[in-house]
Amino acid sequence: MERIVMKFGGTSVANPEKIAHAAQLVVGEVKRGKKVAVIVSAMGKTTDELLALANEVNPNAGRRELDMLLTTGEQVTASLLAMAIAAEGVEAKSFTGWQAGVTTEAIHGNARIEQVRAERIISTLEEDAVAVITGFQGIDAQGQLTTLGRGGSDTSAVAIAIAIDAAVCDIYTDVEGVFTTDPRLIEQARKLEEISYDEMLEIANLGAGVLHPRAVEFAKNHQMPLRVRPAHIEGEGTIIKEEIDLENNLIVRGVAFERDIVRSTVMYDTPYNGSLANIFTTLAKHHVNVDIIVQTIREDSQPSVSFSIKKQDFAEVVKVLEMNQEALGYRQVDFEVGLAKVSIVGSGMVSNPGVAATMFDAMRNASVPIKMVSTSEIKVSVVIPESDMEKAVTVLHEQYELAGE
Ligand code: ASP
Ligand code: MG
Repeated sequence: MERIVMKFGGTSVANPEKIAHAAQLVVGEVKRGKKVAVIVSAMGKTTDELLALANEVNPNAGRRELDMLLTTGEQVTASLLAMAIAAEGVEAKSFTGWQAGVTTEAIHGNARIEQVRAERIISTLEEDAVAVITGFQGIDAQGQLTTLGRGGSDTSAVAIAIAIDAAVCDIYTDVEGVFTTDPRLIEQARKLEEISYDEMLEIANLGAGVLHPRAVEFAKNHQMPLRVRPAHIEGEGTIIKEEIDLENNLIVRGVAFERDIVRSTVMYDTPYNGSLANIFTTLAKHHVNVDIIVQTIREDSQPSVSFSIKKQDFAEVVKVLEMNQEALGYRQVDFEVGLAKVSIVGSGMVSNPGVAATMFDAMRNASVPIKMVSTSEIKVSVVIPESDMEKAVTVLHEQYELAGE
């Protein structure tokens, strides 16, 4: 009989009614003859609440104790969901990550899964019971509890799906699926039936937030089909897999965007070898995430390098650059705030030259100034004023006919 994984995010198990509804979805699959392993997140905003509690008790709490605290969130959901499934007349057993054989590296707060020894889950499924497993956690070689980083229960679900050789890993959430762009911004946004792992990775990394990027990467490496499905309504959601239907193979599959981008420009009097390495090594040491980098070096002009960062890192970058001005040897630094990044994503771009050109053309026709550009095989991103972001997304969504009929 076919095994499947069903994962429920925090909003889909936020209260007893929603837990009962999730249990019904699980029982539905059992009745269809599937052997089901369920992975759960903590209820609603529990993880945030636990962190706030810890902060009240000790703002500098150690990571080991934080992990001990955070793992309880998922444990509450797992036991309650097992009870709710039992209430529907189907046998269910809950397990913590470590009971389920999830081992991780020895890092608190952001551990990677090393292995899933799935014998216990598999024997539970073979006994015709549902296994309900806490996401977001595991155990390291020293027997310490670890967590996988915020949003990490998606990764637990994929790792367990791979370990039990599931046919599919269904991620139940509070959205209908993956859309051509955010339907909260663009009314014409359309739900996609399918999207490739690589496209999904670009969209996930661009902050669409539906799936944890690490989970998508893991699924891609093991060719595990993923499906983002709504828990609150009927719907087939969006399948994420390697090969997607060629007939619908649009060149551009989606338009992603991100607000709160800042451009920093560092100017030098004279070029010197190693300036790039020095700046970005210094920023990396302070855990600043730099995105797009643009540098031009010409004999006849003063050299400069521009890079984009998120607003949340702005203060840190100002501080780090100021503190290190002498060592980095630059003359002046300049910041531009109030920017946004808009990207078109689609695997069809690889074989279709000129996609970037049509995007720039659309921006020019809409009078949207482009501040920075970056491209990959399946993505073109532009940094533009945030005040033009909605217009840009609308224009691009139309330009690539993403709304469908
Ligand atoms: N409960 C954890 C969090 O809120 C893990 C997850 O939901 O994926 O980040
Ligand atoms: Mg999540």
